[in-house]
Amino acid sequence: MLITGCAGFIGSHLSDRFVDHGWRVIGLDNLMSGSRGNLARAEASGRFEFHHGDIIDPFEVSADLLVNLACTASPPRYQADPLHTLRTSVIGTLNMAELGHRLGARVVHSSTSEVYGDPEVHPQRESYRGSVNPIGPRACYDEGKRAAETVLFDYHRRHGLDIGVCRIFNTYGPRMDPFDGRVVSNFLRQALLGEPLTIYGKGQQSRSFCYVDDLIEGIWRLCHAKRGVTGPINLGNTVEMTVLELAETVRELVGRRVELVFAPLPMDDPAQRRPDIALAKSSLRWEPTVSLKDGLSRTLDYFDNLISSGRIEDYALADRLRYQKAAG
Ligand code: UDP
Repeated sequence: MLITGCAGFIGSHLSDRFVDHGWRVIGLDNLMSGSRGNLARAEASGRFEFHHGDIIDPFEVSADLLVNLACTASPPRYQADPLHTLRTSVIGTLNMAELGHRLGARVVHSSTSEVYGDPEVHPQRESYRGSVNPIGPRACYDEGKRAAETVLFDYHRRHGLDIGVCRIFNTYGPRMDPFDGRVVSNFLRQALLGEPLTIYGKGQQSRSFCYVDDLIEGIWRLCHAKRGVTGPINLGNTVEMTVLELAETVRELVGRRVELVFAPLPMDDPAQRRPDIALAKSSLRWEPTVSLKDGLSRTLDYFDNLISSGRIEDYALADRLRYQKAAG
């Protein structure tokens, strides 16, 4: 099988899951936001083969299952090089669909809750068509991911391509990049380093956070679902909270005084987000099981280890270089 975006936060956990079950995995990643270190366990299995490459460029492999996780997903990062983000979703997914068609393979694709934009319908069900600003700063990702779904469903209708599309809601856990700019990574890193937590806007916007092991189980089930389970299927946790409530939970978890600092709300930041997972429950028999407190404390341990081992400095450096490169 092939996993694109294999070195990323989610891709590396999925690679582990497949090699643990005896699969031979070919992993493709351009290492733009992922890290080879995330693959240590998969590579140690002897059943994982890493390829450094970009899905924008055509590639050939032999596989019966293709899983497309390639695309930088954190808002500040995907906005740093918006045209590359758009190409990754649109051209990259065209390449994946074409490859799947040639091989007769199932293509499982990670879409996103961002296809719902700043939703007027709450919670978000798959039938809701979304409210996306096509010319805003998030459009490179949101519209790119919407077009990627179009690519897959057209290949499905035209060529009978076997597809499974999941829409992933906010997910967190070990191997998140501490500098990716997302709210969970920022809050945990800041709390551990004794810095104030940065609340954008008034912190009243809401999100629902899914622990990575739960998400991997959902993707795994979608990979093995019978032909015809095309999705799109929401995968996410249904426990919704405001950003301020998340900050409060992080404060309690670290058990020490942590300040808050307020910063401007980014443009087009969705005001609310929570998945309706009825479809995942009925078609995949899937629902999350890990509580936010448990998941956050496992992630906190991971970040704590990055800090005490000094490895956090590598991430900090890579982050600075990434933005310098994107700025030309
Ligand atoms: N956010 C925040 N402080 C941060 C990072 C993010 O208040 O340091 C907010 C952000 O404005 C958004 C929410 O947290 O409303 C989730 O942001 P994230 O980047 O994690 O993912 P998104 O759901 O926006 O894709």
